[in-house]
Amino acid sequence: IWSEAIQGLQPRLGAQTYDLWIRPLELRQVQGQRLLLTAPNRFMKEWFENHYRDVVLDELRARTAQDYHIEIDISAAAEASPSATAAEPRAEPEPPPPPLPPLPALPPIGLSSRYRFSNFIKGSSNELAASAAWSVAQDPGARFNPFFIYGGVGLGKTHLLHAIGHHIHVHRPHLRIVYQSAERFMNEFISAVRFNQFDQFRARYREQCDVLLIDDIQFIAGRDRTMDEFFHVFNALYEAEKQIVVTADRMPGDMQGMEDRLISRLNWGLVADIKAPDLETRVAILKQKADVDRIDLPDDVALHLATHVRSNVRELEGSLVRVSTFAALKNRPLSREFVSEALGVSAAPAQPAPISIESVQKVVASHFSVRIADLKGPRRHQGISRPRMIAMYLSRQLTGASFPEIGLRFGGKDHSTVINACKRIESIQSEDSELRETVAALRQLLAHEPAHAA
Ligand code: ADP
Ligand code: MG
Repeated sequence: IWSEAIQGLQPRLGAQTYDLWIRPLELRQVQGQRLLLTAPNRFMKEWFENHYRDVVLDELRARTAQDYHIEIDISAAAEASPSATAAEPRAEPEPPPPPLPPLPALPPIGLSSRYRFSNFIKGSSNELAASAAWSVAQDPGARFNPFFIYGGVGLGKTHLLHAIGHHIHVHRPHLRIVYQSAERFMNEFISAVRFNQFDQFRARYREQCDVLLIDDIQFIAGRDRTMDEFFHVFNALYEAEKQIVVTADRMPGDMQGMEDRLISRLNWGLVADIKAPDLETRVAILKQKADVDRIDLPDDVALHLATHVRSNVRELEGSLVRVSTFAALKNRPLSREFVSEALGVSAAPAQPAPISIESVQKVVASHFSVRIADLKGPRRHQGISRPRMIAMYLSRQLTGASFPEIGLRFGGKDHSTVINACKRIESIQSEDSELRETVAALRQLLAHEPAHAA
């Protein structure tokens, strides 16, 4: 049923999309209406879930009149990704069995030099977090302690955390940096307890550490003993004025199951969030990535890709890599059309062109058969003043222009005239269903008016 369904989808999605996103998924198991699939990596899994899962479920429903569920895990061969461990039971008492060798020595282990400040693109979405991270890296322990970065997945938290560690390591090599995911912190803690290495553990985190970088602290929420231990580590370091940087997927207070005293400490210093990047930032990130990977990425293609992949940076970068690899394999240029086919999106710009005051005037004038010059003119005749008021009202509603600006564009009228017009139309509309319909129809027309750019 799976292979029939996905083959049925091939014409609908187009061969590119199909080859790129659907074919690589492997059906592993069928349990009643549950289909278990394996994706080659996390990016493919997420992309499928966000973009194609519903289409496939629809197709299955159409063929079988039954509702299916699709679950996807990531092929074991893929990168060791954090989500591979997500299925781990939340309960903490059972420690992972394989006995660890004595804790490995700790230069800044696990810090990737791929993640630097120099290749972190700043934008309004991450401005505060990035500047504060820079300042922490310049002068660890001096300001913003603790420094807490939070935001959704794939938005650059880990990148900034590594950048801080890397910078400190290069500029102050004598400082001992400990970088750890909260998950590894927990695992180490558990095995330290189990194998009687607690002294070592304590020494590493409390005494031999000048900068503590902990990624994804939300992981330890609800794990009481680990939270407790982290609390003590925090206090020891904080009192010794050591820098502490912590990331999480949400604000301290929003982490369910996190101890209050820990939440309060995490809030002591600076809390900065990272949001999803805006379009300009996404384009800049793509261009940088293309540069590094030597991908020839024309500006319009970068814009196109950035317009359609907006969820997070990891997905953005992943889509560039895949689409460009695929173009190379197919020996086709990386064009808007190719990207559209590959992503299964329309080649047209996704965002409607902004509506201009001119186009409002044009549409309203032609609807009421009056001249644009009359809309802008002084005549108060009902047959003209009514359309004029409607045009002012729609300008205000649809173009985002201010009252004075609208007044100006209607032949230099005072902004109070515009305000009155808007109020009038609003109040008439509330009683007059005919006018309401007219206004709705005009809105529709404007939404589809091709020549907004007028
Ligand atoms: P998070 O830890 O928030 O889930 P990551 O730090 O792992 O996200 O970022 C995911 C990917 O996106 C990484 O490859 C990272 O280098 C890249 N990235 C995120 N934000 C930026 C940015 N502002 N500039 C450049 N690359 C970025
Ligand atoms: Mg991360």
